Amino acid sequence: MSGLAIGEAIARIQREAGVKPEEGTVDTLKTGDPTQPLRGVLVCFTATADVIRAAAASGANLIVTHEPTWYNHRDETDGLEDDPVYRAKRALVDEHGIAIWRFHDDWHRRRPDGIQEGMLRRLGWPAPTDGGHGAVVQLPEQTVRELAAQLKERLGVPYVRVVGDPDWTVSRIAMQVGAPGGERQLRAAARDDVDAVLCGETVEWMTCEYVRDAALLGRRRALLVVGHFHSEAAGMEHLADWIAPLLGGAPVAYAPSGDPYRYL
Ligand SMILES: [Zn+2]
Repeated sequence: MSGLAIGEAIARIQREAGVKPEEGTVDTLKTGDPTQPLRGVLVCFTATADVIRAAAASGANLIVTHEPTWYNHRDETDGLEDDPVYRAKRALVDEHGIAIWRFHDDWHRRRPDGIQEGMLRRLGWPAPTDGGHGAVVQLPEQTVRELAAQLKERLGVPYVRVVGDPDWTVSRIAMQVGAPGGERQLRAAARDDVDAVLCGETVEWMTCEYVRDAALLGRRRALLVVGHFHSEAAGMEHLADWIAPLLGGAPVAYAPSGDPYRYL
């Protein structure tokens, strides 16, 4: 037992991140009672039913998630009241009295961006000079094929989807992890100081087609897509290590929610 209430634990994490939550932030408590004593924390990319079961089995009563719990950005539950998946998940959470808190906006707004910091550590890549979300990382020159192999090995992705020629040489990589949207990815691909864009989730009819046309028109750019989970999970594993010393000895662990896809 840490002697902290769940709400106090959350406040400590926010204070340590050093950024003031903005009006309308999605970093709010989605379920549970903030006055409950904190028994343990499970950090994840997304609070799947299996993550909730793992929290209950380990005795943790606070889940810190990066992504929404109720399948939309603001975790609105209007219209879901009679949905069978929502009802079953809500019953599972309530049965175990688990608080789910989203830490998305301010882990990204922290400098350096916490997700990006964890990803760069996992990849063994240098920190970019501006440090922000969407920064450009300078790597030794390598082919797109070599870069994809490195991503597979270091992130554990089963495959990387690539737009562009695998034999092109690249060294300046724009980090577009997560799902920042087609416009931002497109702007990253348009930069003169970028050879390749690393994406989590992409927008096929926007980003992919822009990069394909860029190559066809003599302005070579490569796009490497690893999927949302694989592009951010290491940033949440990093968060678990980062918050462990902050919570008065409460156990803190990371639960890999895993890639939702199977590759057949
Ligand atoms: Zn994110």
